[in-house]
Amino acid sequence: MSKAFASQADLADKKITFEQLSPHCWAYTAEGDPNSGVIIGDQFIMVSDATATPAMARDLIARIRTVSDKPIKYVLLTHYHAVRVLGASAYFAEGATEVIASQGTYELIVERGAEDMQSEMDRFPRLFRNAESVPGLTWPTMVIGGGDPVKGEVPGKLTVDLGGVKVQIWSPGHGHTRGDTIAWVAEEKVLFSGDLVEYNAGVYTGDAQLEEWPATLEALRALQAEALVPGRGEAMKGNAQVNLALDYTKRWVETLYRCGQEAAAANMDLKSAMAHTRKAMDPVFGNVFIYEHCLPFDVSRAYDEAKGIKNPRIWTAERDKEMWAALQG
Ligand SMILES: [Zn+2]
Repeated sequence: MSKAFASQADLADKKITFEQLSPHCWAYTAEGDPNSGVIIGDQFIMVSDATATPAMARDLIARIRTVSDKPIKYVLLTHYHAVRVLGASAYFAEGATEVIASQGTYELIVERGAEDMQSEMDRFPRLFRNAESVPGLTWPTMVIGGGDPVKGEVPGKLTVDLGGVKVQIWSPGHGHTRGDTIAWVAEEKVLFSGDLVEYNAGVYTGDAQLEEWPATLEALRALQAEALVPGRGEAMKGNAQVNLALDYTKRWVETLYRCGQEAAAANMDLKSAMAHTRKAMDPVFGNVFIYEHCLPFDVSRAYDEAKGIKNPRIWTAERDKEMWAALQG
């Protein structure tokens, strides 16, 4: 029997947890659904990742309002994916004046934001309930300088003072996309990683730079964070837990890419590459949330990158369905 496309059969709501990790840092997590982070200063609040729709963002705002009435001035987009960015407009009513993203993320929104929006809405109908409330693509108002760490350039770095707490924002290297940005609260050693780090959930790599991703994870490990809000999965508390999430993500990425390289070297077709990859991935990761959703996209990208395609091919709603029929049909 063929599997329902992507996450179309996943309709059960997740239990949301809003918890404090340090004096100024909070995690909004949802059993493997996309997480957000919140940093609450004496003057302003920053939200790291905006959620999928304004309706969903209003749930996060309601949680924030149980602990602070300060304006939510800053919205950070850790990367361009629709489930992270399309809720942004809800924060404008809460005082948001700045939407922050990296130059790489800005370029990806220009290049493929519209296709990604349509594609992700089809993949995750549950996350895009009330999609009609999305006014369109989310555009950054503040773009962090174009320095590309992979090319040896100094990346742009931004420090935002929220009053009593400072947030550093920069790109630690390529990985989940080529525009990934993190937020780091150094005084409290709390890291907001976006989808660069996941835990006990599928690691979506359909738009990734797989070869570079492990080094980026090591750059994050060097921060020696004491708490982490990953892109998916529970908030990690204590450095040992943070390292567990880094190890989990690294193992996924390295196993997947190695299988892609083996499949490309053996000139397998994509369907055989999928079967080959399953042998290594299923026993380790087969039971985690959205594994079956992610794997065919991930194999497609790993195979492409191993074949030398540096810039991930753009997923469209049509390409999604064709790939799915070929690999999961
Ligand atoms: Zn993502």
